[in-house]
Amino acid sequence: MKIKRWIVNSLFINLIGILLYPCLLIYKRVYPYQGTVILLFHDPYSKNFESIIKYLKKNYRIISFGEFKDYFLKGKNPPENSIIITFDDGFKSVYKEAFPVILREKIPIMVYLISNSLEGKTMKYHSMETIHYLSLKDIKKMQKSTFVAFGSHTKSHRCLSSLSLKERGNEIRGSKHVIEKMIGEKIEDFSFPYGGFNTFSNEDITILKKAGYKTAVINVGGTNSKNTNPCLLRRVCIGKNHNKYVVELFLYGLLHKLIGVWKP
Ligand SMILES: [Zn+2]
Repeated sequence: MKIKRWIVNSLFINLIGILLYPCLLIYKRVYPYQGTVILLFHDPYSKNFESIIKYLKKNYRIISFGEFKDYFLKGKNPPENSIIITFDDGFKSVYKEAFPVILREKIPIMVYLISNSLEGKTMKYHSMETIHYLSLKDIKKMQKSTFVAFGSHTKSHRCLSSLSLKERGNEIRGSKHVIEKMIGEKIEDFSFPYGGFNTFSNEDITILKKAGYKTAVINVGGTNSKNTNPCLLRRVCIGKNHNKYVVELFLYGLLHKLIGVWKP
């Protein structure tokens, strides 16, 4: 699985994206884009992000997570050709690199925050390098724009499957409480840290629902329709260096299907 993930996430994939693009054009005629793909970004570069967004805007309909939810929770399929942009972790680069693009292009995004980062608590995960998170000031500015919605990505970004029942409850309920209090907005959407099927359980979904969450996103590639479980929404992870060809390849799940990490 690690090699599969490396293929999907490495820069080498950009070359594959360019080489496979003519095949993709044929594939798209036979299998048109269906369902809604939710894209997952973490740490964007402004130039690359802008080129992806411009390309997506031209070819798809970028809708807000709220609009998607309105259709979805009423048992209706979201509009044709729609895609959603989300960010996990709430890194500073969302404000510095992506937000100016969002304002220029007027596109809606969803950002899942780790509540400990809002409270200034130190966290060690992913790597030992210093990670900069969004400040409350950044969040307020983004809220004011009305293009940015927020959700929870737990308190400490620990893998839920490694925690006790009590700790999991605290991560799920506690983060909701802290984020709501700090940003003054109701939080109903959740993102599982790491997001693979082995990183959470059905018990966690029950805790989520009881806590008042309406949706949860995972990190497993696939499309979403009215039949998808609202607490198991599929997402496609886009690396910070991935080009627009790779993004389009991912939207159709071509490569994911080949290596078996795509759940329709
Ligand atoms: Zn994360």
